[in-house]
Amino acid sequence: MPSVYCPNCNSANTCLIMYGMPVYTDKLNADLEAGRIHLGGCILTDNDPNRHCNDCEVDFDSKAPNIYLDIDGVLLANDLTPANYAKEFIATVLERYPYTTYWLTTHCDGDANVPIQHIGHLFDAETVELMKKIKPTSWQTAKTRAIDFSKPFLWFDDDLFYEEKETLTKNGVLDNWIEVDLSKEPDHLAQFIASFPLPMNVQPKG
Ligand SMILES: [Zn+2]
Repeated sequence: MPSVYCPNCNSANTCLIMYGMPVYTDKLNADLEAGRIHLGGCILTDNDPNRHCNDCEVDFDSKAPNIYLDIDGVLLANDLTPANYAKEFIATVLERYPYTTYWLTTHCDGDANVPIQHIGHLFDAETVELMKKIKPTSWQTAKTRAIDFSKPFLWFDDDLFYEEKETLTKNGVLDNWIEVDLSKEPDHLAQFIASFPLPMNVQPKG
């Protein structure tokens, strides 16, 4: 089985998390001692991490979808105003997917500091801290060139170019584009906080 790397410290020393009430067999005790299994407890949510890093002790979901975020028309209603619920939306996204959220905007170009310089002053310090977890992308002509089609993903954007729509359609994942329309629904982001969408082609956890 190929190594699963920790998204926080890049260590290959990661292991499965086992949930539920454990039965302490000799094998389980040996696996726990050797760091081959980590106990996750009995309380399950719809968004539990499936792996544990033995080096930095972070829990993460190796099957987490990539989340791609546009800025204009999604996080910002216009040049000077954040969208309604943008702060809560950012908090929700990064609570669910702290290691797999990416900027997908003209204001990035491979440098994750640029979007924060661009819009950080419109948000409070707590939200800016969260934004620092968002990773950069680099693309030219079409945003779809930055998307990793080998993984499930969601792409929040207010508008796609023809070529981008074609590429999503060809890959059978047009529904992974979450169209945000703040002009029609100024509170659109609140819907995603109440019920976060799931991408197509997600493997059930197991
Ligand atoms: Zn780690």
